[in-house]
Amino acid sequence: MIPVQGYEGRRVAVLGLGRSGLATARALRAGGAEPLVWDDSPEARDKAAAEGFIPHDLTRDMAFDGVSALIVSPGIPHLYPRPNPIIARAMAAGVPVDNDIGLFFRSWAVQGWDAFDQTPRIVAVTGSNGKSTTTALIHHILEVAGRRTQMAGNIGRGVFDLEPAEDGEVVVLELSSYQTDLARALTPDIAVFTNLSPDHLDRHGGMGGYFAAKRRLFAEGGPDRAVIGVDEAEGVYLANQLAEAPEDDRVIRISAGRKLEGAGWTVFARKGFLAEWRKGRQVASIDLRGIRGLPGSHNHQNACAAYAATRALGIGPKVIEQAFGSFEGLPHRSQIVGERSGVIFVNDSKATNVDSAAKALQAFGRIRWIAGGLGKDGGIGALVPYLGSVAKAYLIGHSARDFALELGATPHEISETMERAVASAMAEAEPGDVVLLAPAAASFDQYPNFEKRGEHFTALVRDAL
Ligand code: ADP
Repeated sequence: MIPVQGYEGRRVAVLGLGRSGLATARALRAGGAEPLVWDDSPEARDKAAAEGFIPHDLTRDMAFDGVSALIVSPGIPHLYPRPNPIIARAMAAGVPVDNDIGLFFRSWAVQGWDAFDQTPRIVAVTGSNGKSTTTALIHHILEVAGRRTQMAGNIGRGVFDLEPAEDGEVVVLELSSYQTDLARALTPDIAVFTNLSPDHLDRHGGMGGYFAAKRRLFAEGGPDRAVIGVDEAEGVYLANQLAEAPEDDRVIRISAGRKLEGAGWTVFARKGFLAEWRKGRQVASIDLRGIRGLPGSHNHQNACAAYAATRALGIGPKVIEQAFGSFEGLPHRSQIVGERSGVIFVNDSKATNVDSAAKALQAFGRIRWIAGGLGKDGGIGALVPYLGSVAKAYLIGHSARDFALELGATPHEISETMERAVASAMAEAEPGDVVLLAPAAASFDQYPNFEKRGEHFTALVRDAL
């Protein structure tokens, strides 16, 4: 655990007592502050009370008297569509609002580092898609390179659950737009911006606010190196703003589709090959086509981002190539879960929206596509250009019939359940086919979350193999 610095003897309110909220309360206590904890849910309050934290009702009048700061969980809106009433009250009382990430950046470095040979470093990854994969891949490359490394953030481990840094350690953080929007300190050594597509716009007051939240990671005087995906206009703009000159190699531009020209430092993937260029010359290249843990151009984008970040940490291309080869992928993201008679089974249950499902459909040749669930507004019309690779769709869940209407001439059946979809797809698959779960829909009609949906698919496949 990392104790919070800077609030010794002061009262700090913590709103939201999920995993990261509780970790923050513990870190505040360890750092000598007095955490006042609150959550709307009585169960969450009981859980905190069981650890000795005293619930402090932040909905009461005067609740913020004598409070130095309010630390909030990322799921709680602080501005759009409207501020949570407790946050609004703290702001009205002039109490600074922050989150665990902001506290962490101010608490991470300690005096003891003076004795280290190599100062610990932080790599922070943000973007609309591919954050978790890129974060995990950077962490994996560092492990293969024999560097001490830990990962945390949005990826499922609260930042305060990290162990204090050791000599030369690299921490890799996945940061969502909610986290970067609110954090009062954001000072990574290397910051990565993978890509930008519309998401969570209600929480950010539109696309401009969403981009602004992510940009905060690159604020003036920010990271030593910025790795920036330039496949959208926002990335091009951000890279341009950060570079002092065409050859400024503090900015590494990445692309998952086009050759990047210029005198600067670039990493791009084209036709399955990753290339690194510096000062107008190619320095390295890696064939990504046979790398099973990173299928499709979306994963090649993640590979470019992880390559650039780890090159900036001084790791050689050969080690990175070796690490790509042993990367197994994250569960539920283009994850190969089985193979039989030339048929591969892929679990991409995290493809809960049309954008990520489109990437999955482009990643494989002949697909038996399991899709459906709780469909999102707008339907799946946007997937029509990518249906050429679909041999047949097997539709499940609430949206099965709606999806069927949009599939036109693409062969499909209404399977309704995952059991039937997997059984039919398996029976009909031919050598070379990929049976792909990429639902383009949320899971909540049939499962508690996308993880459970992916686990069900995986269990059915493995039982049948
Ligand atoms: P995030 O953490 O940003 O949600 P993940 O790595 O968890 O990203 O991937 C989320 C979904 O998006 C998965 O379905 C995955 O296959 C897909 N995906 C992964 N990388 C990218 C990318 N670079 N661009 C678009 N989609 C991606």
